[in-house]
Amino acid sequence: MYFSTSFWKCTLWFLFLTLIFPNVETLAWGFYAHKKINYHAVFSLPPELIGFYKAHIHYISENAVNPDKRRYAVKGEAEKHFLDADAYGDSAIYTLPRYWEEAVAQYGEDSLRAHGIAPWSTYSTYLQLVRAMQSGDSKTILRLSADLGHYVGDIHVPLHTTKNYNGQLTGQYGIHAFWESRIPELLSSEYDFFVGKAAFVEKPQLAIWEIITRTHEAVDSVLQLESQLAASWPEQKKYSYEERNGLNTRVHSKAYTMAFHAMLNGQVERQLRNTIKFVADLWYTAWINAGQPILPKIGEKEFMEKNEEFFPLDDLKHIREHEDQGKKTFPPFFNHLKFWEERTSKVFNENRI
Ligand SMILES: [Zn+2]
Repeated sequence: MYFSTSFWKCTLWFLFLTLIFPNVETLAWGFYAHKKINYHAVFSLPPELIGFYKAHIHYISENAVNPDKRRYAVKGEAEKHFLDADAYGDSAIYTLPRYWEEAVAQYGEDSLRAHGIAPWSTYSTYLQLVRAMQSGDSKTILRLSADLGHYVGDIHVPLHTTKNYNGQLTGQYGIHAFWESRIPELLSSEYDFFVGKAAFVEKPQLAIWEIITRTHEAVDSVLQLESQLAASWPEQKKYSYEERNGLNTRVHSKAYTMAFHAMLNGQVERQLRNTIKFVADLWYTAWINAGQPILPKIGEKEFMEKNEEFFPLDDLKHIREHEDQGKKTFPPFFNHLKFWEERTSKVFNENRI
């Protein structure tokens, strides 16, 4: 049988790409879901607030992913996205100090940061938003509202609350992005994002802890269900290839994703809806606690032009790398290649959570 030179070139190129990019997957409450969360939260706001937020809905949605971009550019950011509650013991989620000062007194700041500080820092972002609303600084209000939406999203993801955050301790590598990215990406067009009106939250710090506790309680079922499914599924049908960022990328197959989704019985949709509702609740509560100020709109175009940019630092790039589906480590002999560098930073900038 005769194969043309271009056939062999294509084949070798394909093998090369799949060798160095074995399974990069779109990630996170992916960028996609984080944007959707902030977008839909706007529509739960009361008449006094919806005008301001709707005027800037593009900014609020697009910048929902800033905290994930900062993870690799700003020291101290990464730990705001998770809490390895079980690093403190099996039932620690119920006993960890709810207030930062008490937690620091008990565990020390370095140790807290090592295991993630999501519930404390989410509350801190909320407090900053209250202060921004009091000062009437619209740009800061929008920036912090977008950030808060992100952090509230993260505390609704079970695998953001465990040291087994990517199934790496149970042989389920890749489950992080599978749950929070692949499922919403394939199925969220069927979800109902109408979550009703925002409500005032009496005690935001305790409410945040209540949420992350419920989220953490779901960790075991997420891991167990996937493990059961994997045991009954032919290995060669678990994955398929799709084009991402111009690369042929290994992803969980549609059939496998649908089967996991069915086993989870609506969990991903429920968590997305709960997130949207609580984001709206916190924006509204911040405004009430700030004294219900009138929020001055600003030109959307002018604001977007001054959007922040983030440049990943080398020593931060690999923080909790294996939360990702992709094993984005490359053979050392490729290190010097410019191609490698460009591709790596492209993947980091666009796909990381
Ligand atoms: Zn995050």
